[in-house]
Amino acid sequence: MRKKLLAGNWKMNLVPTEARALIAALRAEIDRDSATLAKDREVMVAPPAILIPSVAQALAGSSIFLGAQNMHFEDKGAFTGEVSPPMLKSYGVTHVILGHSERRHVFNESDELINKKVLAALKHRLVPILCVGETQEEHDGGRALEVVLRQLERGLEGVSSEAVAGVILAYEPVWAIGTGRTATPEQAESIHGALRGVILERYDRAHADQVRILYGGSVTADNVDSLISKPDIDGALVGGASLKADSFARIVKARTH
Ligand code: PEP
Repeated sequence: MRKKLLAGNWKMNLVPTEARALIAALRAEIDRDSATLAKDREVMVAPPAILIPSVAQALAGSSIFLGAQNMHFEDKGAFTGEVSPPMLKSYGVTHVILGHSERRHVFNESDELINKKVLAALKHRLVPILCVGETQEEHDGGRALEVVLRQLERGLEGVSSEAVAGVILAYEPVWAIGTGRTATPEQAESIHGALRGVILERYDRAHADQVRILYGGSVTADNVDSLISKPDIDGALVGGASLKADSFARIVKARTH
């Protein structure tokens, strides 16, 4: 059984006092149910890099995983403004979001760069959450599948069969991110099935069954149940609704079937 992952992406929001207050409120909501929740799901939050040390402290003793929103692929060097995998690891970061649509479209990250980051994450035993998703224009032009499959193929270049089960994919249609427009559970399920099909083709059935595929794009407490109860939707990557403890806690406790 694949455990669902409910992951919060805080993007460029919150200062340390707000981040600590959010973690405290979230823990009050979910720590008491953690034994039950742990049976079939995992929870992760990804704060901005500068908040990672204080969020790591606030999460001490919690089962909530700590994620990063991005990283460089090199271990160290002359890369002003960047953060390396060993730096993240040293604060207990376990997951890293890579190829988020804002990284692709606002910061012009290419599939080739994202692939280097995926390989670096795996080398450092960080779980890469590889995001793929089509823009509104690509969606309207009927090219959603072609775009996401290409992003997946290129993002996984050079990933061995031993490593692939440790990769998490996230289908995040760009037109659904931060817009309040969610893909229908059926639309998302169909893309997820196709993504899993690529893993099956490139690797094998066992690996295709293991890889988790999250949906992201305007997930809220109100729509999460119908999305994550689909068989190929293994959780959610949540932006806006992860910034409030009550809404994210409700998402974490979503009905999964
Ligand atoms: C995201 O940032 O990955 C995201 C899906 O944002 P939102 O939930 O706000 O649409």
